[in-house]
Amino acid sequence: IVFQHLIVHKAAQLKEKPNKADGTVLKFGAHTTDHMLQIVWKEELGWMPPKIVPLEPLSLHPCAQVLHYATECFEGMKAYKDKEGRIRLFRPDMHMNRLARSVARLALPSFDKEALLRCIEELLRVERDWISDVEGFSVYIRPTVIATQPSLGVQQSREALLFVVLSPAGSSFFSALSTSRLAPIKLRVDTQNTRAFPGGAGDRKLGSNYAPTIVPLLEAAKLGCSQPLFVMDDKYGGFVGEAGTMNIFFLLRSGQDTLELVTPALDGTILPGVTRDSVLKLATKIQGLEVSERSLRFSEIEAAAGQGRLVEAFGTGTACLIQPVSGLLKESGVMIEVPFDSKAANDAVAAAPGSLELEKEHVNRPGFNL
Ligand code: PMP
Repeated sequence: IVFQHLIVHKAAQLKEKPNKADGTVLKFGAHTTDHMLQIVWKEELGWMPPKIVPLEPLSLHPCAQVLHYATECFEGMKAYKDKEGRIRLFRPDMHMNRLARSVARLALPSFDKEALLRCIEELLRVERDWISDVEGFSVYIRPTVIATQPSLGVQQSREALLFVVLSPAGSSFFSALSTSRLAPIKLRVDTQNTRAFPGGAGDRKLGSNYAPTIVPLLEAAKLGCSQPLFVMDDKYGGFVGEAGTMNIFFLLRSGQDTLELVTPALDGTILPGVTRDSVLKLATKIQGLEVSERSLRFSEIEAAAGQGRLVEAFGTGTACLIQPVSGLLKESGVMIEVPFDSKAANDAVAAAPGSLELEKEHVNRPGFNL
């Protein structure tokens, strides 16, 4: 990818923007901005000049590899406007590294991460009016790579397309700021469906990891839960995985005055979440808190809850940031209540107005001017 070869074709007509500065919560992923980035790769030519063009439907041959074998991977990252009106990406290096690992798992072509990032920055510049400067609003960035070679048969693709679309996003965290309510969710403990397994590709962001999670999601929803909590069946160890598209954390009382914040270790079945990593890095700075990445059996959580040692649980992800959990619905129908101190949580949010503590800590790419 050669950033200097970037071509920009601007749209003649722009769409109406949905995010008025009134604190409206945008439905996640419902809107796209006016432009997209496209970069074609061909085995014999390498990466073609990157193009920013009006967002358009893609034209694919019906035999394109991606349509048959799900040869697709993606990222989800965010850009914010800071107080000075500069656009800031949250830990983009981590997202580029993860995209590179996903691409490698699919035998898709490697790419220059820095050059791609510069193209994405340019796309953000073109779309700067879509990034609201209202607190907590952001633009969700979806880089995607697909195998486009038009031939049947499972094989390494000789053609690929990398594209990036943007979607304006509110955040449940910051809607909480305006409504003074941080709403916890319930998770459905699911031991029947497995999201990822040892030796699989659960630690990469492949589209093929997600399609099979829709049925478990619907099953959870039917029972009044927002996400499944994937737990291995007891015959495979009963290990806790992830909460749908979030990494899961539990705060356990481990002794008289000690607390342990625990999340499943990156054993190959867990997506290495960027928010997860941020929480871990920040949590190690809290005195008296032991921070663990380790294998975690659901029976341990259940026992802790039974003994009154389960203090808190939350999910993490780019889309939701931090999502408190107030209940774990077991397959037996028993609900394990997870304490959620609504006042403390909301006080904590209110005490940090606009501070974006977690975000700020790791905005390691200087903001760029509009
Ligand atoms: N687990 C899964 C399965 C996910 O899809 C996501 C969202 N990318 C996460 C965890 C959270 O990762 P991140 O904090 O990087 O968004």
